[in-house]
Amino acid sequence: MMTSYMTLTLLLPSLVMSAPMKMPDNMIDMTHGLVDNMPAFPGHVPYTFTINVRGEYPLLKNPDIYIEMNTIRLSEHTATHVDAPAHFAKGKWRIHQIPNRNFVAPGVVIDIRDKVAKNPDAQIDKDDLKMYEEKYGQIPNRAFVLQNAGWEERWMNTTEYLGRSYTSSGNVNISSLHWPGFSLDATKWLVEERDIVGIGTDAMSFDLGNTKDFPVHRYLLENNRIGFEMVANLSRIPPAGATIYAFPIKIMDGSGAPVRMFAMWSNGAVALNPTSLLLSCVCAIILLLFRH
Ligand SMILES: [Zn+2]
Repeated sequence: MMTSYMTLTLLLPSLVMSAPMKMPDNMIDMTHGLVDNMPAFPGHVPYTFTINVRGEYPLLKNPDIYIEMNTIRLSEHTATHVDAPAHFAKGKWRIHQIPNRNFVAPGVVIDIRDKVAKNPDAQIDKDDLKMYEEKYGQIPNRAFVLQNAGWEERWMNTTEYLGRSYTSSGNVNISSLHWPGFSLDATKWLVEERDIVGIGTDAMSFDLGNTKDFPVHRYLLENNRIGFEMVANLSRIPPAGATIYAFPIKIMDGSGAPVRMFAMWSNGAVALNPTSLLLSCVCAIILLLFRH
């Protein structure tokens, strides 16, 4: 048994090196497609897409070559995007200064859809995090903690997405906005006790829509964490066990940038309570030991 164990140990590195790359079983895009008339934060430059060429490229003077080219104009904070620390904290990282490893993290999805159905100004609080950990185990260090408020259902209906249906005013008044967000307490706990890399939301912003002083933006970004906004497909991602990738366009000195965000996970790797995982490992070791 010892010999076969040693052989296996010696062989393992070469086996790993020669193994073909295996893609995880599941991959979900978490990015809204860029289109005209998307909801945007009041005052931001609206997204535009202009067709430059569909057919012959004038400079080539060759009608046999078909070419497509377009021009886009957009705010850094358009659709699914990341806020850099510099967005609300002077002297902190701008987009190009954030280490690449901060754009890959375990995904933790906190579902507060029930709360939000009763109150559009609902927040993720420490109780929601405690309940999550009781069910799925401790939030891993360096995670992205993502709010699923069911807000995505309002996407492409700007009035609904900005929560203005809850006011009588037809004007775009910043203080008339409504959407759910993170509480400052919960965010502080995630940074101090779980050392998260960032948070994210399916709503316009991770601060409440009706905030006046953006406490979560100021605290989170001051502490060199990042925040994703207008994230898509959170209902299709397991609460635990997925790895999230969210790489921004490398805008030098950017305060934020659109990201292509996606989740990947393998079947059987999700939503495992750590206690049952530990028990499974112990059982597997016992079985291996007593096989011979
Ligand atoms: Zn932003």
